Amino acid sequence: MSQASPDPELFDKIVNLSKRRGIVFQSAEIYGGFRSTYDYGPVGVLLLRNVKEQWWRSMVQMRHDVVGLDAAILSPPQVWEASGHLSNFSDPLVDCTNCNNRFRLDKLDDPDVCPNCEAKKSFTEPRAFNLMFKTHAGPVEGAGHEVYLRPETAQGMFVDFMNVLNTSRKKPPFGIAQIGKSFRNEITPGNFVFRTREFEQMEMEYFVPPDESGEWYEYWKAERMAWYLDLGMPEDAIRLREHDADELSHYSSGTADVEYLFPWGWDELEGVANRGDYDLTQHANHSGERIEYFDQHANERWVPHVIEPAAGATRTAFAFLLAAYDEETVNDETRTVLRLDPRLAPYKVAVLPLSKKDTLTPTAHEVFDLVKGNWMSDYDETQSIGKRYARADEIGTPFCVTVDFDTLEDRAVTVRHRDTREQDRVAIDQLVAYLSERLPN
Ligand code: ATP
Repeated sequence: MSQASPDPELFDKIVNLSKRRGIVFQSAEIYGGFRSTYDYGPVGVLLLRNVKEQWWRSMVQMRHDVVGLDAAILSPPQVWEASGHLSNFSDPLVDCTNCNNRFRLDKLDDPDVCPNCEAKKSFTEPRAFNLMFKTHAGPVEGAGHEVYLRPETAQGMFVDFMNVLNTSRKKPPFGIAQIGKSFRNEITPGNFVFRTREFEQMEMEYFVPPDESGEWYEYWKAERMAWYLDLGMPEDAIRLREHDADELSHYSSGTADVEYLFPWGWDELEGVANRGDYDLTQHANHSGERIEYFDQHANERWVPHVIEPAAGATRTAFAFLLAAYDEETVNDETRTVLRLDPRLAPYKVAVLPLSKKDTLTPTAHEVFDLVKGNWMSDYDETQSIGKRYARADEIGTPFCVTVDFDTLEDRAVTVRHRDTREQDRVAIDQLVAYLSERLPN
């Protein structure tokens, strides 16, 4: 499963598998598709939920110092004026005068050569293109009614900081975490779900005493890397890249990207940034409200500094798919297996009656009813058992439970393991315990 070099063929395989197995569909496909917008199908929605669930578990549930938030997507211009997005959240856009294609200047390998038509010095002067989607609230368009779709979830945590501080009884160091949709009018969306205009983020703002920001920055870089590795990212396909001084925003004293070796090379999954007191100070100045922490013991007021691990849920789910894809030859045939960590696997269990004969159906339903409350489970009774195993392998289902004619006599089922294809005979009344031992939360 390890992949020390980028594999361009893998990209097509994942796109095809996604379409064929209901992981990701092109949006509005019956109308010709809406460019670079995607829908998560019956299998993909489960994978995406599991990625988010694992993030929430590690960032919120398993900690006493982080609380959650679900803030609004629509927000007034004041928020984005204070955050700096209205003036600065833009990409440098250039047009090639030869082929009329558009590019982001900062993403070009050579800023003087068009990657499409290879014309030299054919670009227009760069224009700053603001990435925020603007719309109107209420029936009247025009000044005073403009609202923005958030381009990141992070501002919710800054704007609500005092509300959370006053209601949660937390004190720095503590964090606020949020998962949700964000929108960016990207100039060059692409690479399947890697860069889209509508996507999901998983962000956490960790508020710390100013003199502790350096150590917490180191802490969160290590924590976040450990999360990816724990969920099965191969060590040689994931790395932490510290930004050079000229890449840093003016307020950041340190930023590092968690990068994955995508089929086209290393690219970002997550940014971890030491943002200082920039965000809270900006919102305090623009709103006129006091945004600070009062330390009763020391009788001091101060503005917490912020460490931000900001990840993309949709992008990360895609990376887990790529990392999990494997093919092996079994009896001269290619077996495709998604070796996803069971915690990420869309279905944990597939219940498969050996034949569609009515005699097996009641027991197969009984087995499905036993497992479905514990784990997301599939029930599949069409086609040969071999084909059904192959279908389950292809979407990464860790365990297939087969109900056969012996089951009616011995009240036992066959449990097949995805990775090894080994099979165990397990008594139905032991099945939940057997699977519980092998399926962690
Ligand atoms: P990039 O340089 O790729 O445009 P960024 O540095 O602007 O990304 P951040 O603002 O740090 O991204 O957002 C945090 C995370 O949100 C990214 O690491 C990525 O996983 C995700 N993300 C950002 N933009 C998109 C997008 N257009 N589509 C999918 N995910 C995105």
